[in-house]
Amino acid sequence: MEFRNLIGGEWTMGDDTRPNVNPSDVSDIVGQAAQAGLTDLDQAIAAASGAAPAWSASTPQQRFDVLDFIGTEILARKDELGRLLSREEGKTLPEGIGEAARAGQIFKFFAGEALRISGDVLASVRPGVGIDVTRSPVGVVGLITPWNFPIAIPAWKIAPALAFGNAVVLKPAELVPGCAHALAEIIARSGLPAGVFNLVLGPGSILGPGLVADDRVKAISFTGSVPTGRGIAADCGRHLKKLQLEMGGKNPMVVLDDADLDLAVEASLNGAFFSTGQRCTASSRLIVTEGIHDRFVAALSDRMAALNVGHALETGVQMGPVVDERQLAQNLEYIDIARKEGGMVTGGARLERKTQGFFMAPALVTETTADMRINREEVFGPVANVMRVKTYEDALAAANDTAFGLSSGICTTSLKHATHFKAHAEAGMVMVNLPTAGVDYHVPFGGTKGSSFGAREQGRYAAEFYTTVKTGYTLA
Ligand code: NAD
Repeated sequence: MEFRNLIGGEWTMGDDTRPNVNPSDVSDIVGQAAQAGLTDLDQAIAAASGAAPAWSASTPQQRFDVLDFIGTEILARKDELGRLLSREEGKTLPEGIGEAARAGQIFKFFAGEALRISGDVLASVRPGVGIDVTRSPVGVVGLITPWNFPIAIPAWKIAPALAFGNAVVLKPAELVPGCAHALAEIIARSGLPAGVFNLVLGPGSILGPGLVADDRVKAISFTGSVPTGRGIAADCGRHLKKLQLEMGGKNPMVVLDDADLDLAVEASLNGAFFSTGQRCTASSRLIVTEGIHDRFVAALSDRMAALNVGHALETGVQMGPVVDERQLAQNLEYIDIARKEGGMVTGGARLERKTQGFFMAPALVTETTADMRINREEVFGPVANVMRVKTYEDALAAANDTAFGLSSGICTTSLKHATHFKAHAEAGMVMVNLPTAGVDYHVPFGGTKGSSFGAREQGRYAAEFYTTVKTGYTLA
């Protein structure tokens, strides 16, 4: 299978290619991916710039039809697309199918949003003058996406970009060209004029800066790691380019003495280990008050140890492999550091399975303190740390004691504490009696502090980033 670039309506492969390896079985090559260079990128940006004016003038009905087509096809093919996703990224098949379905729902949602683009009409402070505030497309937008949600994250950037009349150049992560290619293939048949959507596959270190530095690209939406995001922000600052960043997390899950123990364990298990912990919203810090601490740790350790880790496509597997060798080595190194810093580690060993893949047992690190690296830095794997605290106030302070601010959770039966936590958790998303990961697609997604920068993604709020506001004054 070949995963190609889509530039101005043409599929291009080029000479340079990179194998797409299945992390559950390295002998399984999913396909060969094109490796675009700066010339390809230049052509993609030129195609988007050429196509942008006509698409910006398209009617809401045209945009609805395109997005609805894409959403309908993704939903109809969610099993097949989910299988491709699980094969190249390593989340379990049910998770892969769920993510593919989510991508379809996102396109459907933004099909509707294309019909609902609105503005404001206000009276002026001057007699006889009327004011209208309208939204225009930004122009060409550059979308840079990570590997951990290879179809949903491109979808939640592409769909609003197109719905609000922008042209797109998508640069997905190197590890997951298959899903991006499959999505592009559907978009190419949707009735969208050639050049409005372009896909370039290749190294982020070359294509990313190229996209950011090009003056024809008016805005960058990036999801990925903090160091990459910071570099992009500095470059966008120099070019005065509109920017939206979604980055890492070190999300706390507070468990209070009055919590429903089963529910707290279930929410923590899901938040910490599902999708192999490779979620920016993963619950990586479990902050537990002392009255429930030992029961919680015992129950969670049992449930964690019972998780079936294996080939992502195998029936009954609950946790797939880590995405690649580099990420696996990083996870194991963090576990080692935690042990050296005084943490008690359960699980966390590399695992052998029938196929050669990047398997590891999920890990729980107990008796941790706030200053340990494992509590301050994002691991991005199936590793959760437990911190013991005395009171709710201590728990809230520990939850907020981080450079990140994406998602924050609490398990409690106390309305008082739940309400207080929702108001005072320093995070963009707050969950009560729910895992920190797992969100709806029709409401804003994003964080505070070092996790996010710029306007929110998803739901109605996506309009902020993908449009420019214009204020009109008319003397009648
Ligand atoms: P990454 O930063 O390594 O790569 C992200 C994207 O940036 C890739 O497409 C990559 O090719 C590209 N890139 C690399 N170097 C670049 C450069 N110099 N300029 C521009 N682009 C460049 O991140 P990753 O490893 O793919 O993803 C994991 C990270 O993503 C984690 O930190 C995770 O928390 C974060 N993430 C955040 C969210 C969120 O919404 N907050 C969602 C998912 C993942």
